[in-house]
Amino acid sequence: MNIEHSTVQRLEVFNTLNVEVFIKREDQIHHFISGNKYRKLKYNLKVAKELGYSTILTFGGAFSNHIAAVAAAGYLQGFKTIGIIRGEELRDKTQHNDTLTFAKSQGMQLSFVSREAYRAKTSKVFIDALKQQFGKFYLIPEGGTNTLAVKGCEEILSLKDQNFDFVCCPVGTGGTIAGLINASKTHQKILGFSALKNNVLTSNISKFVTQSNWSLINDFHFGGYAKVNQELIAFLNAFNVEYNIPLDPIYTGKMMFGIFEMIKKGLFFKNAKVLAIHTGGLQGIAGINSKLKKKGLPLITYYK
Ligand SMILES: *Cc1c(COP(=O)(O)O)cnc(C)c1O
Repeated sequence: MNIEHSTVQRLEVFNTLNVEVFIKREDQIHHFISGNKYRKLKYNLKVAKELGYSTILTFGGAFSNHIAAVAAAGYLQGFKTIGIIRGEELRDKTQHNDTLTFAKSQGMQLSFVSREAYRAKTSKVFIDALKQQFGKFYLIPEGGTNTLAVKGCEEILSLKDQNFDFVCCPVGTGGTIAGLINASKTHQKILGFSALKNNVLTSNISKFVTQSNWSLINDFHFGGYAKVNQELIAFLNAFNVEYNIPLDPIYTGKMMFGIFEMIKKGLFFKNAKVLAIHTGGLQGIAGINSKLKKKGLPLITYYK
C-alpha cells in the first residue's frame, strides 16, 4: 500500500447556480486503513520505526476508525499494537463488535478502561502507568492527530486540486482539516463539517495551521458524535443509489448532507467548484447498522 493521490470524481448535482461538486476518493486507499487515517499514520509509523520502537499504543472508542487503522497498519508493518479502549463493559463483548473483532484479528492487544480513567488518558500519571504495564511504546493520541499526522494530511491535496474554490472535509479532532489548510492556496476556502456537537475544535486546528482561509460548520452533526437519524440514513442510501459511492454515517455522510443543503440554500457562489474529501470510515457502518437494527430502524443498505 503506497498511494500518492486518490481519484477525483465529478457528481452531477442539480442546482440553478451551476455549483459543481467533486469527491476525492480517499476511502479507496484501503478498507480499514482508509482515507485520512492512512495519511495520519504514514509519518508516525515511519518515525516510530526510525526511532526503534516495536510497539504502537493508542486510544479509541468501540467503533473507532483510528483503532481499526492502527491495528491493520501495525500488522502490515510488523509492529505490535495496543489499543486502550473506552468502556470496561466491552471487555467481554468484543465478539459482538465488528471494529474490536477486526482489531484483535490484526493482533492488536486490547485493554479496556473505565470512561472515567479514559478521560485522563493524556495525563502523565496515566501514561506512566501504561509504561509500567506495557513497557516501551510509541504513543499515538486518540484520533491520531499530532504534527506528523498533519504533515501526512497535507499530502491529500495535489497540484490539480488548486482549481477548486472550496475544499470540504469532516472534522473530528481537526488533524485532517489542518493538513488541508496548510496545503491549500489562499484563494481557496477550506470548510470543515464538525462531526461533534461541542464546538471546541477551533483551538485544536489553530495550533497546527499557517493560514486563516478556513471555517467550521457546526450545523450538520445530527445531535452529536455518531448520532444518526432516519433522514441521514435515507440520504446515505439515496446518495449511493445515485452516485454508487458509499459514505459513512459518522463523518462523510454528514459532510455531504451539509454540502447538498448549502447548495440548496444558495450558499456557494455561482459556478463554484467544490471538492469534498471522502475520508473513508466505511468500516464503521457495521457498528451503526447493528445499533439501527436493535432500534428497528431502516439500515444502511450498501454495506457488504
Ligand atoms: C477520523 C475521521 C475523521 C476526522 O478526522 P480528524 O483528523 O480527527 O478531524 C473524518 N472522517 C473519517 C472517515 C474519519 O475516520
